Amino acid sequence: MTHQPLAALSRDDLAALLQEQTTAYDDLKTRGLKLDLTRGKPSAAQLDLSDELLNLPNGFTDGSGTDVRNYGGLTGLTELREMFADLLWVEPEQVIAGGNSSLTMMRDCLIYMLLFGARDSDRAWSKEGTIKFICPVPGYDRHFTLLESLGIEMITVPMNDDGPDAEAVARLVKDDRSIKGMWVVPTYANPAGSVCSQEVAARLASMETAAHDFKIFWDNAYALHHLTEEEAKSADILTLASAAGHPDRPIMFASTSKITFAGAGVAFLAASVNNVAWYLGHLGNGSIGPDKVNHLRHVQFFGSAQGVRDHMAKHREIIAPKFAEVDRVFSERLGGYDVATWNKPAGGYFVNLDVVPGTAARVIALAKDAGVALTQAGSSFPHGQDPHDQNIRIAPTMPPLEEVTAAIDAVATCILLAAAEQATA
Ligand code: PLP
Repeated sequence: MTHQPLAALSRDDLAALLQEQTTAYDDLKTRGLKLDLTRGKPSAAQLDLSDELLNLPNGFTDGSGTDVRNYGGLTGLTELREMFADLLWVEPEQVIAGGNSSLTMMRDCLIYMLLFGARDSDRAWSKEGTIKFICPVPGYDRHFTLLESLGIEMITVPMNDDGPDAEAVARLVKDDRSIKGMWVVPTYANPAGSVCSQEVAARLASMETAAHDFKIFWDNAYALHHLTEEEAKSADILTLASAAGHPDRPIMFASTSKITFAGAGVAFLAASVNNVAWYLGHLGNGSIGPDKVNHLRHVQFFGSAQGVRDHMAKHREIIAPKFAEVDRVFSERLGGYDVATWNKPAGGYFVNLDVVPGTAARVIALAKDAGVALTQAGSSFPHGQDPHDQNIRIAPTMPPLEEVTAAIDAVATCILLAAAEQATA
């Protein structure tokens, strides 16, 4: 259906639209909906794909005969490191297989840096006064709350279709020694869906930084999470940084949280061999080794790197229709009104929605009152503050398809109502 842009409607037509959407919204509220599009979690059907893990491992020794039930092996099981080195395009000696959460590894790195300094620091970051990080926006809320919890200041830069605005980053880091690092979600970013190009990665890897121990936290959480058969390859940040003379600049993170079990997967850190030694040196003071039984379970379950790719194709079959449904319903309900833009991500877990500036919080409040939970307004920005109050992160993976349809239809009504309210105010 084609609609007229709100800006082109007469006062009477706008009043009629407001009336129509108010009625639609009142009707929505009587339906007793209880739908949730808040967090990017795998659905039960996706978790079922990995149930075989519950019957593994067979036996308890790894390829070298080590008894995985015992202490030790801080770097993680060799076979699993090799498998994910292949998938993340790094060398096995650059990879550590750890516990179940890559976010915990990111937090540990930050805390080690604050307490002791990075491998190439002159002193602990906490001794340097104000510390700042660059945050491409919209971005991952937990990155921001983590920095906030540690007292690290945040400077935003735009997230473009080819990754963070590298020129803006380069300008900022050139003269400010207090800027010690930045986040990059390089593949199918949360929530922008963008993929960092090799050119942008090369610029970030090679740019001049006032802080000689500047770090790129390269969070490749969605490296393998393709929604189409055209599989984006992540930029090769470790090689680029090494070639540019900054081998210790990037630290890469990934996990199987959205490959096997979100609560019982395996997380990975990949970096220069020196950074790996730095991390293990600190980790070893608080751990005698990771859960190698879970590592072995994952090795046996996947069999090979190709086994992981094949497994991801099964995820795609389950979730791609949900993403298509978000686009279909929004297009049908909102197309032409000029009240919203949304992306069609080729991977990852989110649809990035922008509504009329000044109405995102209202849309989310309306949806809540109608029984549809959306992520809090501003959550993709540091301190929860979206300067234009227009961004909403949609997470369609968890509910069944029919619930996605109902929820997006309801959100479309809320978007239209909020836009009509604003236009007639
Ligand atoms: N990084 C990003 C960008 C995410 O979106 C998420 C989860 O939503 C995580 C990290 C969490 O990773 P993990 O489960 O390995 O801690």
